[in-house]
Amino acid sequence: MKPIEELDDEEIIKELKKWYSENALVCPICNKMILVKEAVERDKEFLGKICSSCFEIEQEEEPIAMQSRPLQT
Ligand SMILES: [Zn+2]
Repeated sequence: MKPIEELDDEEIIKELKKWYSENALVCPICNKMILVKEAVERDKEFLGKICSSCFEIEQEEEPIAMQSRPLQT
């Protein structure tokens, strides 16, 4: 690969696209661009990898949705 200063715009875009396809993905829940290494692999359903913040929200919401226990005051 040539040094970045020697690339023209088209080549830079090409390299960036390559980099993104290898290192980044879009979270299917919030549509945010995330790094593959920061993505969290879900062990269920078909969405696959999601961002860590969506994963955290899911983890928090799930027990509530599943148990639906009455609120205590
Ligand atoms: Zn997300």
